[in-house]
Amino acid sequence: MGDNDPRIASILIVGGGTAGWMAAAALSRAFSPLPAPARPVIKLVESDAIGTVGVGEATIPPIRQFNRSIGLDEADFMASTGATPKLGIAFEGWMGDGSRYFHGFGDHGPDVQGQPYRQHLFRLKAAGRLNSLDRWSVPSVMAAAGRFARPEADPRSILSAYSYAYHFDAGLFAGRLSTLAQAAGVTRLEGRISAVDTAEDRVRAVQLEDGRRLEADLFIDCSGFRGLLIEGALKAGYEDWSRWLPCDRAIAIPTRAARPPDLYTTARAASAGWCWRIPLQHRVGNGYVYSSAFIEDDAALDELAAGLEGPAEAEPNRLRFVTGRRRAAWKGNVVALGLASGFLEPLESTSINLIQTGIGRLLELFPDRDFDPVLIAEYNRRTELEWIGVRDFIIAHYHLAARAEGALWAHCRETPPPDSLTERLSLFRARGEIDPTHHDSFREASWTSVLTGLDLWPQKVAPQVGGLDLEAVESQANRVSDLIARATATLPDRLEFLRGVQMKAEAR
Ligand SMILES: Cc1cc2nc3c(=O)[nH]c(=O)nc-3n(C[C@H](O)[C@H](O)[C@H](O)COP(=O)(O)OP(=O)(O)OC[C@H]3O[C@@H](n4cnc5c(N)ncnc54)[C@H](O)[C@@H]3O)c2cc1C
Repeated sequence: MGDNDPRIASILIVGGGTAGWMAAAALSRAFSPLPAPARPVIKLVESDAIGTVGVGEATIPPIRQFNRSIGLDEADFMASTGATPKLGIAFEGWMGDGSRYFHGFGDHGPDVQGQPYRQHLFRLKAAGRLNSLDRWSVPSVMAAAGRFARPEADPRSILSAYSYAYHFDAGLFAGRLSTLAQAAGVTRLEGRISAVDTAEDRVRAVQLEDGRRLEADLFIDCSGFRGLLIEGALKAGYEDWSRWLPCDRAIAIPTRAARPPDLYTTARAASAGWCWRIPLQHRVGNGYVYSSAFIEDDAALDELAAGLEGPAEAEPNRLRFVTGRRRAAWKGNVVALGLASGFLEPLESTSINLIQTGIGRLLELFPDRDFDPVLIAEYNRRTELEWIGVRDFIIAHYHLAARAEGALWAHCRETPPPDSLTERLSLFRARGEIDPTHHDSFREASWTSVLTGLDLWPQKVAPQVGGLDLEAVESQANRVSDLIARATATLPDRLEFLRGVQMKAEAR
């Protein structure tokens, strides 16, 4: 490409954590159909001395689409990252000790008479005939039975009514992506950036400690919490959301697996936050996300350690963060992805998904060297909507939790939620409706599982359902849940599924 060519000729990705290598793999793949001279040159710089955060281990279903889009086959991915299938999240203790609800990746039964089946189930709840939707959620029933197979393609089968994601080792994932991206032509550079050269609100180059100077047309800031380019150089600003989400620290401790992996993440409410349990093939990831305003670090470590099921495999990894987002994820010629663009706690396993959608948006709105402000504004508009959707979903968990012990919980219940969430909760309370907006990471079924799990039920149901004979609605609901139970019993045990994947990977 010559100097007069408006197209981006060079991209520098700053950072080689999950965000950096996902961007490298996706961008190199996206431009691969172009003839070599028309492809941008992609380089990635990372610092071995600084290292990565590397704790992101639980995901949501669109990750499968990401892997497919970069040509990463499932058996290869699962074998190389120690992955297990994930059907949802079990929330324990959020409504008090001993309470449990499940957010499964799937709907609650088929649509009937033009109404989503959940409306029929809300009717039964209003009549006192049920207390949980779990029996109508295929992934919830599968997770409880420990059985797994990929969803069926035929939409008429009840075994098509779910989706799945993975638990995996984030460090191994970044390593696998790195190999893929370098095979696709990405150049990896190792070195520590010591300065960033800017001019007219754009980054011109980064300087490495050893004196090298790296120029590019487009910079992708994946430098982690530091936000070296987007904040350090361009001062994009940060919107702090900690008044609603006061957790600001985490401790992570991996343990040896003491039993076969669950098909779900566990999020157990604790005195000043919540503890995760993420089962991989070879180990279990554990952690405590807590608020330093409500518990001392040492007490948090003791509380986490008391709940561990196996011997620790590493020293505790302590992390600090401020929940919020970069005011502009794209500024000038810098697009921030991953922790450089903001942080939302991993309660719904969304950070890696936000990296994925950020990459997707960048590819859709990919600029020329003029960096048209219209494209930048659109990217930032969609990013903000998506982040607010995830933020509100997470706040709902804390705001509606009825857990009694711990001052954090009273604080979260009493803090008025953002207007956008208040509106959603009102609509759900009124008629069980969730606005299916385009930018939501979570759909109606997910909101329904979580809100009803937190004991928020609609006051009225749709009239098309309210007018039906109650006994007929109940006997049909029983038939649907029997069908789900019988279909689930035909599925293989999860260990059988994992052995099959392993054999496929070895045969390659
Ligand atoms: C406690 C916790 C739990 C989490 N759990 C989940 C989860 O379950 N699911 C999920 O989806 N997400 C989770 N996340 C988020 C997830 O870890 C991150 O989104 C993901 O790891 C992306 O990180 P990153 O690549 O943006 O940053 P990092 O991993 O921090 O990588 C930053 C990169 O920038 C480089 N760098 C920085 N400064 C310089 C410099 N001066 N010179 C050269 N290179 C530099 C570093 O070397 C590194 O390569 C969690 C995060 C935390 C904190």
